[in-house]
Amino acid sequence: MQQPIKKLVILGGGTSGWISAALTKKLLGNAIDVELVESNEIGTVGVGEATIPPIKLLNDVLGLNEAEFLRETQGTIKLAIKFENWKNENHSYYHTFGAAGKSMAFCHFHHFLKRTGELENDSKLWDYDLNALLAEDGKYAHIRHQDPILEVPYAYHFDAGLYAKYLRKFSEKIGVKRTEGTVARVHQNQQSGFIQTLELKDGTLIDGDLFLDCSGFRGLLIQQTLQTGYEDWSHWLRCDRAVAVASERFDKTLPYTRSIAHKGGWQWRIPLQHRNGNGLVYNSAYYTDDEATDLLLGNLDSKPLTDPKIIKFQTGRRYQQWHKNVIAVGLSSGFLEPLESTSIHLIQSAVVRLVHLFPQHGINQAIVDEYNKQSKLEFEQIRDFIILHYHVNQRTDSLFWQDMRNMAIPDTLAHKIELFKQDGRLFRDQNDLFLESSWLQVMLGQGLVPNSYHPMANAMPEAQVKSMLQKIKAIKHEPLASIPSHDEFLKRYCG
Ligand SMILES: Cc1cc2nc3c(=O)[nH]c(=O)nc-3n(C[C@H](O)[C@H](O)[C@H](O)COP(=O)(O)OP(=O)(O)OC[C@H]3O[C@@H](n4cnc5c(N)ncnc54)[C@H](O)[C@@H]3O)c2cc1C
Repeated sequence: MQQPIKKLVILGGGTSGWISAALTKKLLGNAIDVELVESNEIGTVGVGEATIPPIKLLNDVLGLNEAEFLRETQGTIKLAIKFENWKNENHSYYHTFGAAGKSMAFCHFHHFLKRTGELENDSKLWDYDLNALLAEDGKYAHIRHQDPILEVPYAYHFDAGLYAKYLRKFSEKIGVKRTEGTVARVHQNQQSGFIQTLELKDGTLIDGDLFLDCSGFRGLLIQQTLQTGYEDWSHWLRCDRAVAVASERFDKTLPYTRSIAHKGGWQWRIPLQHRNGNGLVYNSAYYTDDEATDLLLGNLDSKPLTDPKIIKFQTGRRYQQWHKNVIAVGLSSGFLEPLESTSIHLIQSAVVRLVHLFPQHGINQAIVDEYNKQSKLEFEQIRDFIILHYHVNQRTDSLFWQDMRNMAIPDTLAHKIELFKQDGRLFRDQNDLFLESSWLQVMLGQGLVPNSYHPMANAMPEAQVKSMLQKIKAIKHEPLASIPSHDEFLKRYCG
């Protein structure tokens, strides 16, 4: 469609709709009009409360004040995810946003740990990781240091409903138009099939040049209208339902998400300032909805505040996330279960990609193809990382975990595992969201210990390696004593 794009219409006012509205309007300014349509009658999915560090960049670009953001969304700091019972029952490990040790020119830090035998003990790695040390002690503060070894990367937990409200206020202030109503019909150009107008139940017509489908799992534009098709990944990621419930806040607000494996799924606990978010992600062949609900309610640390809500999903991705003049953003674009809190990041990344490729003079196929190529790769890389958690396990207590261990995995993941198994080699694929330190923590945490290490780790005499490790450990532990608890930090910082 070679006509200039002057008006963007966003269908949906969940997390994806409001992130899309705020970011496109902020970045493209007067170059486009942005109108968002949302339906109070339909509502939002109401989950999605844990994030990963790139969200800080989103907030910075929008110019949000961090203390205000945490206050408005009842947010907390997230340093890591603690995976409990994943490798084995009664075993746990952290996947932190930091890294163990320090950056060592060409040889990764863990090769030195392997040389001294410390990698065999599955808690040693995290003794060199400040994020893990703070998480374990329930502490947090913004540490300002010149030395990158003391950097503490973090993300947030927040209330999804409050977050959407906060972004709505922001977006309307910078010129986004909001229309409330339920779309009843979608009008397409008869020749091209491009979408021209959304018709609301009350007859209001909303026209646009480019449409973002943020309508959630239903994919009203990308699927129900354009029939774009879905690539199913449920043979690898077999959980297909979740039950979610909010519960009262604890006395102590943990600075990390908990992910607790059960016989046929896993449970999340997300600490917020005013309450906790909880849910069980499960495979419906292993638990009925009632069993899953009972399991979740029986494992809450505090009194439930809401009725449990069942959410059905299918893991996979839309074959074309941009088709004709529709771009699917959020749940309409595909779904990877929330094990690594990647969905909100995928929204941010989709909108940034769109802005980079913005078809100001009209949509052409090269732009669409580039967009689809990049988003496919991004989804596949995250998919592999999530499968890793399930596949590498030593649990013998249920068929679910045995099936996961025995299933065929994508070649891309098998290749990564094979490289690591031999000599601990890790390579970050281009643009992979997860750095080597993430792959390392999950591989080791799940019980994959390399047979050997890289010969570069032999370049130093053994005594020098030991003294270097001791020094790094001391530097990482040093700030702990002066850092307040996470709760104290929130109280002081947010007021
Ligand atoms: C169990 C579970 C746990 C999750 N946990 C996390 C997590 O911890 N971290 C993370 O990053 N992500 C998580 N996610 C994903 C996250 O919830 C979503 O990415 C995020 O909420 C975005 O949803 P959405 O805006 O695409 O869809 P929705 O929230 O479903 O919003 C859809 C919008 O479209 C509107 N709409 C639909 N049809 C119409 C119509 N006909 N007319 C008008 N409006 C319409 C609705 O009213 C609504 O406003 C989780 C998802 C699930 C299922």
